[in-house]
Amino acid sequence: MKLTRTSVFQSLFAMALIVSACSSDDAATDSTADTTAAEAETSAEPGDDAFTPGVLDSGATVATFDEGEVKVHTYTNPEAGFGNSTIVVETENAVVLIDSHFAESSASEFRAFAESFGKPIERLILTHDHPDHIGGVEPVFGDVETYSSAGVVSGAAGAGTTIKNTLDAGTVEIDGVEFVFDVFVDAEAEEQVVISVPEAGLVAAGDLIYHQYHAVMTPTFDNWISILEQLAAADDVRVVVPGHGAPGGPEVFDDIIGYLETARSTYAESDDAESFNAAMVDTYPDRAGANLLEFGSDRLFPKS
Ligand SMILES: [Zn+2]
Repeated sequence: MKLTRTSVFQSLFAMALIVSACSSDDAATDSTADTTAAEAETSAEPGDDAFTPGVLDSGATVATFDEGEVKVHTYTNPEAGFGNSTIVVETENAVVLIDSHFAESSASEFRAFAESFGKPIERLILTHDHPDHIGGVEPVFGDVETYSSAGVVSGAAGAGTTIKNTLDAGTVEIDGVEFVFDVFVDAEAEEQVVISVPEAGLVAAGDLIYHQYHAVMTPTFDNWISILEQLAAADDVRVVVPGHGAPGGPEVFDDIIGYLETARSTYAESDDAESFNAAMVDTYPDRAGANLLEFGSDRLFPKS
């Protein structure tokens, strides 16, 4: 059997989920300290009382960014679920979803959140092929049209998940609203789709951004940082949704760029994963998801 990068991640995420589920009964409620940025930016116009912005019983945090005609709703897992953030873009007659979760239970709750707005799901866009973003695609969203770039569709297929449609970089109009797709390679993932909705000021950056979370690293720091600088330079960005951690405003770019610059210099001085990961946790003791650092270890060391 060919062991793909995605299938290796699948095993790591499965193990981490079991460990976090066993280690603490209240992990889900202990890990919401990083939601302040979302709370500061939210407004109270959810589609359903069951999803009033705040923390759900599952530990997930939901928020709404009221951008007028186009609303952006976010669903963020607790740390025990890797802090993944997924998105509902609500247009006049439909909802467009961005990303799924590792656990089927999280994907199901995210779907219920999306359906609470009372509009049909026009499509689900997957930002990249890592298992914490495409879990639940078939069991929970099997009846939904799914989309990603050719490289992501192919990577997901290698891990046993079918994404039905391929999208190209460029602009597509959905329900009268412009969605802009950019495809980037050789950063956190081998290939990653970034979705921008200018009318909502939204940039959905997938795992190019970990906000107040430790990241799964690669040695391609220069490319990764330069992509982020390019995204940060766009006009009128008001809502930035990371792949992991709470959504916020443009300051989220500063958080991840500073973190990656530190990681780049720390990596230059580190000889093995253990010392690199320990130094990052030491420098950023308040960042959640320290276990995510371990997922990148075999990409960083041994140095080539
Ligand atoms: Zn991820």
